Amino acid sequence: MNISVAIDGPAAAGKSTVAKKVAKILGYTYIDTGAMYRAFTWYCLKNGINCQDEKASCSVINKVKIQLLPNDVVLCNGEDVTKPIREPFVSANVSYIASYKDIRLALVEQQREMAKSNSVIMDGRDIGTYVLPNADVKIFQIASPETRAVRRYEENISKGIPCTLEEIEADVRKRDYIDSHRSFAPLKPASDSVLLDTSFLSVDEVVEEVINIINKKLKEKEKRG
Ligand code: C5P
Repeated sequence: MNISVAIDGPAAAGKSTVAKKVAKILGYTYIDTGAMYRAFTWYCLKNGINCQDEKASCSVINKVKIQLLPNDVVLCNGEDVTKPIREPFVSANVSYIASYKDIRLALVEQQREMAKSNSVIMDGRDIGTYVLPNADVKIFQIASPETRAVRRYEENISKGIPCTLEEIEADVRKRDYIDSHRSFAPLKPASDSVLLDTSFLSVDEVVEEVINIINKKLKEKEKRG
């Protein structure tokens, strides 16, 4: 039987770091839905499309083919965009793109298809509420905005992406606002999700906690039959 685990939460809460590790330990496929919105945004920016223009952004839906490959590799129309989609110019625009319903519908269809044939751990903003409403396990992972900004700043610096802590914190707060205020599939905890505050936990502690939650939920499910 295929298992699905949804991890949602605000920007830079450490979802992907944790989800990747948990997927490796449990042998599930990790699906980074944020990378898909980022790749779409990268395509728009590369082609001179104003990401705040919904009509122009949605007009290229049929021209954008995004593929998630093993080892976190992301392709957009066959081009490796793994690195550029993490750059601040993409982060600054991605929440506009992700607020457009038609773009979401196209990407969600792909996400659901990927979850059909494997046990998956999928992270994003709307996985438990919209993409996989019947997920076996739903976790809403949070941390304070200050903690999240420091974590993302350190991650960027280690990857050689130039940035300042101030601009990262402003970006995280702006994305959280747009993501949670959009009308279609906004960022919010699913009513049946487990809230996990990682502000004072190390990555390994969060990984352990997530595996405990998964085991507990799967046992409860088994009992219910
Ligand atoms: O997860 P990450 O921070 O890379 O996601 C980038 C952006 O993509 C988010 O700020 C959000 O606007 C959008 N997103 C979304 N729904 C998802 C995943 C990401 O709206 N399921």
